[in-house]
Amino acid sequence: MILNYTYRIYPDARQEELLLEWLETCRKSYNYALRELKDYISSRKCAIDRCSLVSEYIMPADYPFPGYQQQQNNLPKAKKKYPWLKSVPSQVLQTNIRRLHDAWDFFINRGFGFPRFKKYGQMKSILFPQFKTNPLTGSLDFVALRERAPSVRQIKLPKLGLVQINLHRPIPEGFVIKQIRVLKKAKGWYVVASIQSDMEIPNPLPHGHCIGVDVGLLSYCATSDGWTEPGRKFFKTLYRRLKVLQHRLSKKQKKSQNYEKARKKVEALHNHIAFKRKDYQFKLSHKLCDMADTIFLEDIDFRIMAKGFLGKHTVDAGFGQFRSILKYVGKRRNVFVAQVDHRGSSQTCPNCRIEVRKKLKDRLHSCPECLYEINRDVASAQELCNRGIEMLSTQGLWGKEIGCQVGLSGAFCLDKWRNSDLSVRAAKSIGDNRSPRYTASS
Ligand SMILES: [Zn+2]
Repeated sequence: MILNYTYRIYPDARQEELLLEWLETCRKSYNYALRELKDYISSRKCAIDRCSLVSEYIMPADYPFPGYQQQQNNLPKAKKKYPWLKSVPSQVLQTNIRRLHDAWDFFINRGFGFPRFKKYGQMKSILFPQFKTNPLTGSLDFVALRERAPSVRQIKLPKLGLVQINLHRPIPEGFVIKQIRVLKKAKGWYVVASIQSDMEIPNPLPHGHCIGVDVGLLSYCATSDGWTEPGRKFFKTLYRRLKVLQHRLSKKQKKSQNYEKARKKVEALHNHIAFKRKDYQFKLSHKLCDMADTIFLEDIDFRIMAKGFLGKHTVDAGFGQFRSILKYVGKRRNVFVAQVDHRGSSQTCPNCRIEVRKKLKDRLHSCPECLYEINRDVASAQELCNRGIEMLSTQGLWGKEIGCQVGLSGAFCLDKWRNSDLSVRAAKSIGDNRSPRYTASS
């Protein structure tokens, strides 16, 4: 089991300068490696025996593809040529190259999202991939660490030395720090510690009290129990302030000291909005997990929802992030979180399941059939809950119903065996039928 804990760190002036220098070096090496990759691709765009119409940089035909291994092995050679590369810990540079190839693999698998060059200041993090000893205390003795947790104020990073850290929550017992990513944000520096434990926590199973959760703009979320949380607009509330700051920024001369100061203020405000949103979503997730043991969410693609009207507010609410945070919190708190089909959930009566057409302005669900009246969002949440329960239980058995077959132990294996036997027999019989026909026609 791997968890990521984020802590704020306070590097002193020397350390901060060093970190900024490393980020810049990483950015340069990332761009160099990407250039190599792009050159290779360009040079392989036309057939080997003809010239490309657009002038491309031609690499020799036997030049191997610049994969991760090759580019990583080139690093020591590059260090001889460019000594400034040596100031960065070598593993940091390696993981930086790894990062490019992760982006590349992602592009290959997905078909879009070609890695891009990083502009000045766009490299925001570096990764320390392994630690021989616990960087918090210098030992692997975690019990001692926990006892001394309030006194731990420093983290030891390679080539950087001891950095002040706000260890606001101790590392849980049995967890070891595997890797540390140092992050630069507008508000300051952070470390994300990946902590790992051998202990496996099983995925939560559906149990106990079930609720459906419907998210929306007017009420941020509504549960099937009738509880609603008023809508929140994180960006919108600070929009006026942002407008002022951005106006000021636009008046400054580019690349000047004052421009940089104004830019930092805009960046910090954006950072503040994002932090506020995330904090709210974590608190709300915990609240929902307090209320139920099983939570059903809609499986809507919020990116498509954000393209509609009110798109700006949809993006502001950050529903997609909320869904993934709720899943994460649910897993840690043994609450089963699942997604169910969202189509028409707001247009269905949760009581008698007939379709009740509503416009967005109709805030009350009132069914003409069974005279059931309730808040529109709550009705939608109740319908989601109904669907979730249907998805889970079929004739009192857990699991989805597939035809007439339910997931009983042994039944599946038998069925598979029968099917395979049948298909072999069927193939044989087709073969038998075929051969005389072919002979007849020939
Ligand atoms: Zn009804």
